[in-house]
Amino acid sequence: MNNKKQNILIIGAGLCGSLLALRLGQRGYNVNVYEMRPDLRKTDISAGRSINLALSDRGFKAMKLTNIEDKVKELCIPMNGRMLHDKEGNTFLSNYSGRDHEYINSVSRGELNGLLLTEAEKHENVTIHFNKECKSVDFENTTALFRDFNTKDEFVEDADCIIATDGAGSALRNSYYLGKKFLFSFSQDYLNHGYKELSFLPTEDGGYKTYKNALHIWPRRSFMLIALPNLDGSFTVTLFLSYDEGEYNFNNLTTPEIVTEFFEKEFPDALALMPNLVDDFFTNPTSSLGTVKCSPWHYKGNTLLMGDSAHAIVPFYGQGMNAAFEDVVEFDNILDQNLESWEATFKAYEKGRKKDTDAIADLAIDNFHEMKDHVANPIFQEKRKIEMALEKEFPNDYSSKYSLVTFNETISYREAMLRGRAQDKAILNMLADGIISVDDDLNTILEKVKNETEAILEDD
Ligand code: FAD
Repeated sequence: MNNKKQNILIIGAGLCGSLLALRLGQRGYNVNVYEMRPDLRKTDISAGRSINLALSDRGFKAMKLTNIEDKVKELCIPMNGRMLHDKEGNTFLSNYSGRDHEYINSVSRGELNGLLLTEAEKHENVTIHFNKECKSVDFENTTALFRDFNTKDEFVEDADCIIATDGAGSALRNSYYLGKKFLFSFSQDYLNHGYKELSFLPTEDGGYKTYKNALHIWPRRSFMLIALPNLDGSFTVTLFLSYDEGEYNFNNLTTPEIVTEFFEKEFPDALALMPNLVDDFFTNPTSSLGTVKCSPWHYKGNTLLMGDSAHAIVPFYGQGMNAAFEDVVEFDNILDQNLESWEATFKAYEKGRKKDTDAIADLAIDNFHEMKDHVANPIFQEKRKIEMALEKEFPNDYSSKYSLVTFNETISYREAMLRGRAQDKAILNMLADGIISVDDDLNTILEKVKNETEAILEDD
């Protein structure tokens, strides 16, 4: 299978598929990618969701692997922390890390995807076919059925193996599920919250209407608004709100008056920057948020799911794309092992990777509650203060859960989850019991946190 004449068919040229094509192209395989949408570098199509995303260290690990880190950095706006906005318009900047070189980056989905496509296409052994929708996959015969959007013709392609990176609604995953040819577990859990994208437009001279280098959050316990900067001076603003619970929800925000009243009451400082609110609100769709878990990801050595098609998660840790990029790095590591067949390769990849993508799925749900609610809670803010001070004072000895997940690409998501949760529990319990306080000596706090964390990890 390490014969480089192997033909690999990739379904979906989104973030994961285009990166995978680039990497497999670099490794010398013959790669054909089929994407249902037109080429986003030539057509003005919205990606359908999240215009910009937070890119962090796990994603950058993949950019380094494919030697495009410098090009990607040009597309990025550093966000050093969360800028919290209360109802009175007061703001509070909470850094993501006590180490200055650790921050997340706002990047345009379209620009990043376009760069990955261009880099992949530089390899003559990679071909990307646009406007070709996969309808189903015959995983026993390693063939896929496509429909051409322009001609409406249907055609079948075969390959030595097929890798689906076609996102949360994957055609390959549906074929596994509907085929009923083997035991396939699948769950899709929706939140009762949906999201809608809005915007702060740039100032007249192309500047930013609010502080540029932060991820802005308006946490309101059962709902929240966030904003990430774009290179053109605008911000993409996202409202996360229940469909049907609470005084205001997506089902009852039906008129310009109610929408404006809701923003006046809950987000007055944001509203002041949004003369375009009503237009955006009634033009842009409301979309759902869910977690997909499934197994197995592969069928023998014929087919494999990767990225969101295998493990879609809610966006609250800013890790879905980063996890999809890390998939490619992990897959590349397995390829380095030169196993005897695609089946052995896919099996080893899934065995190593699934526990980590399950972990980030659970962490993303935890962060949903943290962002909309806990960040505004005084004891949580004391914990953050302590963690920031520990990271600053002992950069090599302490990392918060957020840092372990976001900035430490050398440990797995699962390890980050176990250690991070134990640390959170240790600090919150000791703060509540008065065993530590923000004014204590940092050496003493570090020792107590370390001891208590180890005790919790041993108990678990
Ligand atoms: P996708 O990006 O969904 O790409 C799938 C591709 O396959 C698309 O190009 C699609 O057109 C194509 N396709 C689909 N079906 C077919 C078919 N049948 N035939 C052919 N082609 C097909 N992640 C982060 O890391 N940071 C963030 O800040 C972040 N914010 C987010 C905010 C929101 C609101 C949402 C919804 C997600 C966010 N994510 C974030 C998650 C991130 O968007 C996904 O994890 C990432 O896009 C997964 O990449 P993918 O390539 O696996 O899937």
